[in-house]
Amino acid sequence: GSKSIEQAFNEELAKHNLVKEVKLVRTGCFGLCEAGPIVIVYPEGAFYSHIKVEDIARITEEHLLKGRIVTDLLFKEAVVEDQVRSINEVDFYKKQQRVALRNCGVINPEDITEYIAFDGYKALAKALTEMSREEVIETIKKSGLRGRGGGGFPSGLKWEFTYKAQGDQKYVACNADEGDPGAFMDRSVLEGDPHALIEAMAIAAYAVGSNQGYVYVRAEYPIAVDRLQIAINQAREYGLLGKNIFGTNFEFDLEIRLGAGAFVCGEETALLNSIEGKRGMPRPRPPFPAIKGLWEKPTLLNNVETYANVPQIILNGADWFANIGTEKSKGTKVFALGGKINNTGLLEIPMGTTLREVIFDIGGGIPNGKAFKAVQTGGPSGGCIPAAHLDTPIDYDNLIALGSMMGSGGMIVMDEDNCMVDIARFFLDFTVDESCGKCPPCRIGTKRMLELLDKITEGHGEVGDIEKLERLAENIKASSLCGLGQTAPNPVLSALRYFRDEFEAHVYDKK
Ligand code: SF4
Repeated sequence: GSKSIEQAFNEELAKHNLVKEVKLVRTGCFGLCEAGPIVIVYPEGAFYSHIKVEDIARITEEHLLKGRIVTDLLFKEAVVEDQVRSINEVDFYKKQQRVALRNCGVINPEDITEYIAFDGYKALAKALTEMSREEVIETIKKSGLRGRGGGGFPSGLKWEFTYKAQGDQKYVACNADEGDPGAFMDRSVLEGDPHALIEAMAIAAYAVGSNQGYVYVRAEYPIAVDRLQIAINQAREYGLLGKNIFGTNFEFDLEIRLGAGAFVCGEETALLNSIEGKRGMPRPRPPFPAIKGLWEKPTLLNNVETYANVPQIILNGADWFANIGTEKSKGTKVFALGGKINNTGLLEIPMGTTLREVIFDIGGGIPNGKAFKAVQTGGPSGGCIPAAHLDTPIDYDNLIALGSMMGSGGMIVMDEDNCMVDIARFFLDFTVDESCGKCPPCRIGTKRMLELLDKITEGHGEVGDIEKLERLAENIKASSLCGLGQTAPNPVLSALRYFRDEFEAHVYDKK
């Protein structure tokens, strides 16, 4: 409904001669999807939620003309005991720290001058004019930034490998092929702050010695693709892409490549194949992309969120970033919170925040007074985490120790009514569909696992089926070629680890 709300505001502002005094900015997502459409009025930061076209006249006449906040239209938590709280004081935002999302929901993503006004391209200028390529890489290494796409590999090391690799041509690439069910972190950055990605990729290109970049975005993200293309065009116009950037001899340009929606193309080597115009199938590693990537040339590949942190690290320094988070997981992480949760939306928290804080303080708990049962992190590659581990601080290593993983940041909450066998079956069904078929353990093994799960959930399970499921899962993990197959059994294994009784109830009690 945002478009019609924008139009209604334009009409009201014109009617009351406020066009020069009030600036109407259409932004990307501000995170709290549950409360949308959202209108925020500054300088008060008044947080209006669930706004309809018919509310616009009141906001204009009362708030904009008379300075009186329309309290009954505010988000429910923005008024406490008759006191109006600004958006930053609302529970959903209070514990958040926005680094990758800092401009999302704040600036107009289609206007480069707004990005520049918020220190945009300052980090690129600093890197190009004040830092050597080695200093840029050292800064990223020292910051402790790790890949936000799932693996958590130290980003600075990847940059260094690409920098040191021999090659007459090098590339930088961005993985924006976000395919996990329920995940929309990268989409929001592209829709809300596309210049942050362009700036980061230019910095990365300078550091590793590349002059050409590619952003691989799924075609199902049309707004993200449009805004990124607008941003690329504007950056070219402003001399921030192309030759002699900031008067130096550094040259860099960027192109978009559209993905057709295959989940496996989020796997780095399949993505590179797809950019090259080949079928999106993984390649054996080594060689890793840093050594032999696009067209067999050294290629730096990071995901959108990883890049989105880079300008802030360059501007504020490695220590600033390294001081956020836990010992081995620095900085913040963006999560897409969905499922049985009151505040569905997008959030960014310092690493080390507990699952309980995310689900109950930020997420507002479980709807309809139901009990929390589990949260699935890492989508189809991750696993479920039960209530007993709600006080675990979120970081890469803790989630792996619990049998799940950070993944790209999808977080799906289950309540007491969810059957965990069904949930495990849902994710496995997804990976069976998305398996590229190149290697037998994943192509055939996951199908056999799904057949067993079907049999169990339909009440035909036999003694020994659960053990068979486990054996298959372990074999597929150990022998699949790429990350998709190696992690596909995780949802089943973690459900078995924490909710084995539910599998047994299906088999033995035919429930
Ligand atoms: Fe393809 Fe699955 Fe093998 Fe990966 S593990 S190469 S997705 S068949």
